[in-house]
Amino acid sequence: MKTQNEPQPHSLNLKNFSGAFQYSPQALKLVWLTSKPLTIAFAVATLIAGFLPAAIAILGQYIVDSVVLAANLHQQGNTDVTEPQNTALFWVVLEAILVIVLAAVQRGISVCQSLLRAQLGEKVNVMILEKALTLSLTQFEDSEFYDKLTRARREASVRPLALINKLFGLMQNAISLVSYAVILWQFSFWALLVLFIGSFPVFISEAKFSGEAFRLFRWRAPETRQRLYLETLLGREDSAKEVKVFNLGPRLLNRYQAIFDKIYLEDKKLTIRRDTWGWLLGLLGSIAFYAVYIWIALAAIYGTISLGEMTMYLLVFKQGQSAVSASLTAISGMYEDNLYLSNLFEYLDQPVDSDHGTATFGKTPGDGVRFNNVSFTYPNAKFATLKNINLHIKPGQKLAIVGENGSGKTTLIKLLTNLYQPTEGVITLDGTPLSSWEPSALHQRFSVIFQDFMRYQFLVGENLGAGNVARFDDEQAWVRAAEKGLADKFINNLQNGYHTQLGKWFKDGQELSGGQWQKIALSRVFIKPEADILILDEPTSAMDAKAEAEIFSQFKSHTENRIAIFISHRFSTVRTADHILVVDNGEIIEQGSHEELLAKNNTYAHLFKLQAEGYQ
Ligand code: ADP
Repeated sequence: MKTQNEPQPHSLNLKNFSGAFQYSPQALKLVWLTSKPLTIAFAVATLIAGFLPAAIAILGQYIVDSVVLAANLHQQGNTDVTEPQNTALFWVVLEAILVIVLAAVQRGISVCQSLLRAQLGEKVNVMILEKALTLSLTQFEDSEFYDKLTRARREASVRPLALINKLFGLMQNAISLVSYAVILWQFSFWALLVLFIGSFPVFISEAKFSGEAFRLFRWRAPETRQRLYLETLLGREDSAKEVKVFNLGPRLLNRYQAIFDKIYLEDKKLTIRRDTWGWLLGLLGSIAFYAVYIWIALAAIYGTISLGEMTMYLLVFKQGQSAVSASLTAISGMYEDNLYLSNLFEYLDQPVDSDHGTATFGKTPGDGVRFNNVSFTYPNAKFATLKNINLHIKPGQKLAIVGENGSGKTTLIKLLTNLYQPTEGVITLDGTPLSSWEPSALHQRFSVIFQDFMRYQFLVGENLGAGNVARFDDEQAWVRAAEKGLADKFINNLQNGYHTQLGKWFKDGQELSGGQWQKIALSRVFIKPEADILILDEPTSAMDAKAEAEIFSQFKSHTENRIAIFISHRFSTVRTADHILVVDNGEIIEQGSHEELLAKNNTYAHLFKLQAEGYQ
């Protein structure tokens, strides 16, 4: 999917050559911050590895020339050739030493790379996740943003190091090249020119294709996300049940494969084009090499240069060619890395809503919660989900919200808990707008469970502790909360009590019934005794009527001075509230106590009677 406001990458050409280096400083900083000693070792080893090949080539010349000299002397009948022979042997030993050092240095580079790769991967992943923690729910629900997150997660953790590897490799090759150029210059300036020109076309084609590969990758984020989702559906226990009974498997697998087929086709075309051009243009390099070979050989035959020089020039030319093409490929690869890194930095630079308030208590303590003319429209939605809501919830009040599915009940709770901000109007707690509250002070005041509460595949106790991070590991608090939420009985019957692993992902994990999970979730509400606003969004739908009645009498007795808000479809529960809101299509159409609403004989009374008849 292409979006209008995203900058579209272009292929690398001379105009945007700097694109290959754009994020190098940031990537270098990341690597440096990951491990200073490793970065220094990496850089030093790179420098040494840059100089050594030219030194080895020069020694090659010395060896051949001293061997030729010794051989000539020997053929001329000299019996004592010890000195030239020793010289030749000395050069051979020196070359062997340098080759050993070079091998060690190259190993060193590879060790630094491996260690940095592991550390940097972790660092970048943590950065991505830390950033995710600062984002709003709205951003999470935005599919374009989700694409950014997927793209950043998929590639970006390996790219900073890849970029630095290439940058350092480029430095190494540049050093080698300068030393080769100095040597080759002595033979002929033209040979030097041929060396560079012969490698250029491959570079241009590489750069063009890496740009294309990146564009494909970027446009594909939605497809990749779809495939990830299908994988989750097909491979996880919580969806396995439905996938089996509806026999969805083959259908979903088909869809999964169809996406691959499409992606594969595009990839195949690109790969074939990339490699065909790479081969054709690479031929130019070989032609250049053999032309220069002929030239150098002729020079040796006619005595312009020695045999040793011929060996050295050939070696230098050949290695020079590899170094030039390696550098150019590195530059185009760096361009590609930069494109991928742009994803990471784009994601990390995603603005976050940082201007939250600082209030730790309200202007009018004891005022409770007020909705003043609150309306709310979901981002990208055409119509308002909540319209003109006015409401005052006093401390200690028990409020029930009823209404059809989709009427806006949960949305109201999401606004109250500041997960979303009203598009119009203001919500206050103790006289201070929610937006002016310091987020953690606000969190402390609320204890909430949603209809789609999380079933963490942790220990039972940790599932209770999740409701209050301060008590996440507090075993006594677990037990107290479970008693209040009426979950203690079944927890005690579990094999390892509060230490039973839940879910099927991990060893010995145990599954719970829907009702048992709801009891866990309810207990989560009670693990935060300091919260004075408790919210239950249809928490008892999976329980039997007796369990629900018990829960609610328990709930009332533990929330005497606290605000309790609950959403329920059971009027036996709803009628126990002091105040009832009837919500329809985003508006409060009726409110009052059970008796008042019955007396009005309107929507509430109608719904109540309908359900009561069902029980007769
Ligand atoms: P209820 O809790 O009363 O069943 P909700 O508050 O969950 O209803 O939903 C009210 C309306 O808002 C529905 O029409 C639903 O489609 C829409 N809605 C709910 N959540 C979102 C969301 N995250 N993004 C966009 N629209 C949403």
